[in-house]
Amino acid sequence: MVISMNVLVINCGSSSLKYQLIDSETEAVLAKGLAERIGIEGSCLTHQPAGKDKVRIEAAMPDHNEAVRLVIEALTDQEHGVVSSLAEIGAVGHRVVHGGEKFTKAVLIDDEVKKDIEELSSLAPLHNPANLIGIDSCKANMPDTPMVAVFDTAFHQTMPKKAYMYALPYEYYEKYKVRRYGFHGTSHDFVSKHAAELVGKDRKDLKIIVCHLGNGASVSAVKNGECVDTSMGMTPLEGLIMGTRSGDIDPAIIEYICKKEGLTVEEVNAVLNKKSGVLGLSNHLSSDFRDLDEAAQGGNEYAKLALDTYCYRVAKYIGAYAMAMQGVDIIAFTAGCGENNYAVRAGVCEYLKYLGVVVNDEKLHIRGEDLIVSEPESSITVMIVPTNEELSIARQTMEVV
Ligand code: ADP
Repeated sequence: MVISMNVLVINCGSSSLKYQLIDSETEAVLAKGLAERIGIEGSCLTHQPAGKDKVRIEAAMPDHNEAVRLVIEALTDQEHGVVSSLAEIGAVGHRVVHGGEKFTKAVLIDDEVKKDIEELSSLAPLHNPANLIGIDSCKANMPDTPMVAVFDTAFHQTMPKKAYMYALPYEYYEKYKVRRYGFHGTSHDFVSKHAAELVGKDRKDLKIIVCHLGNGASVSAVKNGECVDTSMGMTPLEGLIMGTRSGDIDPAIIEYICKKEGLTVEEVNAVLNKKSGVLGLSNHLSSDFRDLDEAAQGGNEYAKLALDTYCYRVAKYIGAYAMAMQGVDIIAFTAGCGENNYAVRAGVCEYLKYLGVVVNDEKLHIRGEDLIVSEPESSITVMIVPTNEELSIARQTMEVV
């Protein structure tokens, strides 16, 4: 029997809360929105009911409890609501960033799961505590609704040990769980599954490389339906060059810059997370690829360098994962840049020619839709697959409840 219900998907940050209400049967988004500046002066809720005008509700949100209360009020409001009562929300799916080694799939949240998420906070100090606040606030407002935790790291738990171990003293792994975990798992899972559907095959029979290129960016190697490697590590700082994050660097640089600039390790860490990536490479021009594209076209050398270096790094990871999987059938581009940015996709595909990839340049210009961009004679099928993390969270929530 197929049960149909509305699933509320929650992505809670330290001062914000994003939500979507999804009908599990039709997979339609009934409403979505964002509560911003929670706990800060000037908090506001933007609520977008499907097919109706967006509403902006300016109301004090001293804490997340109040934010969730306002979200429920908006969802059930006579005028801009989409359901008549809380009873029409059958389950809540929470995005949780770090599931460590404990969580290999989505789980129903109980006190023990909450304790585990809390314990994993040392691995994701900015994210897990905020995710927990979201869970508690929803529980306070909807005590009888089942809640599910969907982890960013879970999909990558199939990586073999040779892919997730760092070459550090082994006791760091045993004592502190220092290893690679990977992130964006919900997206890599969703996109690799859908990519297989687009060629009419089962993911179990394919070798797929997913390039999730957003503000945060990561590549994953999905072999026979399981992740075997991914570019982010213990934290989301490793791997590709990102909007403001450095990705891979020589770890000795940290001490060197500390000494040269008189900074603490924490300060250099903040530079690596917030002032590096294409923002740093472009000489602080922008972390946004639309700005970089425009500047590069206007002849800005820093912007060109940022774009070149970015594409080169993505291509190197694709090369490495082709080797890791001993072959590739599909390369899928997703997220902000992967779905929309011609320069990035074309820049990466230029390197792929060596592998026998032939892409259609006209198709590479098309934005934001499921599309095979390679020619039939191409050795590898290259495609654009828009990600949908909220839908994936809603589906996983349904599976659990
Ligand atoms: P996040 O990781 O914050 O979810 P996104 O997936 O939204 O990030 O990706 C943001 C990036 O996508 C930005 O660098 C932005 O410039 C790029 N992007 C979004 N839309 C376009 C577009 N139409 N053309 C070029 N780049 C785009």
